[in-house]
Amino acid sequence: MSVLIVGSTALDSIKTPRGDHPRLLGGSASYASVAASFFAPVKLVGVVGEDFPPACLRLYRKHKIDLEGLQMAPGRTFHWSGEYEVNMNNRRTLKTELGVFETFTPRLPASWRNCPYVLLANIAPSLQLLVLDQMRRPKFVVADTMDLWMNIALPDLLKLLRRLDGFVLNESEARQLTQEHNLMRAARKIHRLGPDYVIIKKGEHGAILSARQKLFVAPAYPLENVVDPTGAGDCFVGGMMGWLAAAGGSVEAHLRRAVLYGSVLASYCCEGFGLKALTAVKRQAIERRLKELESLTRF
Ligand code: AMP
Repeated sequence: MSVLIVGSTALDSIKTPRGDHPRLLGGSASYASVAASFFAPVKLVGVVGEDFPPACLRLYRKHKIDLEGLQMAPGRTFHWSGEYEVNMNNRRTLKTELGVFETFTPRLPASWRNCPYVLLANIAPSLQLLVLDQMRRPKFVVADTMDLWMNIALPDLLKLLRRLDGFVLNESEARQLTQEHNLMRAARKIHRLGPDYVIIKKGEHGAILSARQKLFVAPAYPLENVVDPTGAGDCFVGGMMGWLAAAGGSVEAHLRRAVLYGSVLASYCCEGFGLKALTAVKRQAIERRLKELESLTRF
């Protein structure tokens, strides 16, 4: 079964202690789509401008991502630039140029409206809602977000939360949204806002999956060589949704494994600038890393 993914489709200029790379293919939807594509067919909803390089379209096509919902609009592609500190955890956003996203209205091809798995990757919650409004009773809807939307679009985000099955956010965002420092209390408060599944990402320390009455703690794959962590969170949730779509059946039964696959995809993402390392990965390598993660945590 396929996954429908909406989010930012961007050009990123990234500076880390390992180097400086301008205008790489990025955006939450690009990272999530490539990660999901290792498991399931992906339908991408987004917008790019006239400056979008043909090589970026080729990369989407290499991963067999369906681009019927990708609009090409007059103007410039969303451009984000960021710089990392030596520890690779702290990041400063230098520029966010919305470009064609300023006037973007997502329109889903008619045949996409029945897609069972929907990932609303990080983008304005009003756009995430517009996509959801066009769907016919999807089986499993997950959204990601960022601190910016809590600051400038909280009413939209709260409206969205009521319609989600799963919500993914990082630990500082969970604390900001709930005003709770303790993550268990924060998860409980987020459940009350709507989603049955709350996934709190803790970067190199893994992720917590809270399912109201049940808890799962997933490690991050221990990496020695972090080159660029941009998009790791998007790859995490993309990998997770891709696996769920491939597995089909009961989401509850497959969610823990899906979270571990998410950790594996996120780890590959960090090993190269932009999508460079991830796009070169083979399915067999993903399986090997998953087994390693399993053996690292079994006792
Ligand atoms: P992450 O490292 O998971 O936070 O995701 C990084 C990606 O988010 C980059 O590829 C950016 O293009 C994208 N991004 C940055 N700011 C925004 C924003 N305001 N809305 C949507 N996507 C964004």
